[in-house]
Amino acid sequence: FVKLSLPDKNAVTNFLVVTAKVSADILRNMVPRHQSMAVRISGGKRKDAASLRADFGAHKCTEACLILESEALRAGFAGKPAINPTELQESSLVLNLRSSNKKRKACFTESEDSSPKQARYSAESSTPKTSFPFILSQTEKDKIISEFLESTSNAALRRYECSFCGKLELATDVKMKTIQELDISLLDCAVRTLRISSSQPCIESFKASSLMNGSSYVLCHLCGLSVNKNKFQTIPLRSYANGLWIGEVPLELQDLTFLEEQCIARARATRCMYKIHLGPTGQLAARGNVCILPQDTSSFL
Ligand SMILES: [Zn+2]
Ligand SMILES: [Zn+2]
Repeated sequence: FVKLSLPDKNAVTNFLVVTAKVSADILRNMVPRHQSMAVRISGGKRKDAASLRADFGAHKCTEACLILESEALRAGFAGKPAINPTELQESSLVLNLRSSNKKRKACFTESEDSSPKQARYSAESSTPKTSFPFILSQTEKDKIISEFLESTSNAALRRYECSFCGKLELATDVKMKTIQELDISLLDCAVRTLRISSSQPCIESFKASSLMNGSSYVLCHLCGLSVNKNKFQTIPLRSYANGLWIGEVPLELQDLTFLEEQCIARARATRCMYKIHLGPTGQLAARGNVCILPQDTSSFL
């Protein structure tokens, strides 16, 4: 197959159909190589030469249409380069999608009774469509690689610490509010009460080290739900102001594994689990109270 511009493809097709008036057999052989063309009418009968000629008259060649070198030469387009394998596969895919199984079978039977050379071409154009995976073009491969690099870049994976609960959230999910903008009087009020009632004079409503450039609060999704009109309307569930302040984590206790955390925990939680259905895939359910039991860690050390 040769590489031709769309007007040239149309010119070749037009030359063969109108000027050279090729036979019905050759027309039928050309049909599968042009997009949205059919050899048969909807009832299953083969179209005659006149209706095929009319079809080609209405047909506008697309990128997918394939022109044989012999056809191009006949129409006076000599020395045109061959199309590359990727283009051939893309074309095959498009042409294949456009034709039903029945039509594909028809195109094979057509080619059997035409000359051996044409038969070989038809077989070539239809075999790779079904038996081989579609090879992506270089531009598409480049696009996939750049998408991968983009979604795994430092900027895309960057997380910020919420100023009010300490949760790490993707930079794209957090909201920033300047200190002047956001009213945290509700949280401050709760913290003042907690300092006395829980005898923890050090607790704070937000972590100063998590402020962005020292001038903006970072709000995670959950804490953001409690903010309306730049004011905390309720105390966020997991916020420091809800009694969850633990202060700065000592360097030795940062990056502990789950098991290490369990070993030094001062309390452990238990709850009653039921299996609703017996068997390995049985669904579980919890019932009753969650009990927090103090744990003596000295035996582990
Ligand atoms: Zn065409
Ligand atoms: Zn938060």
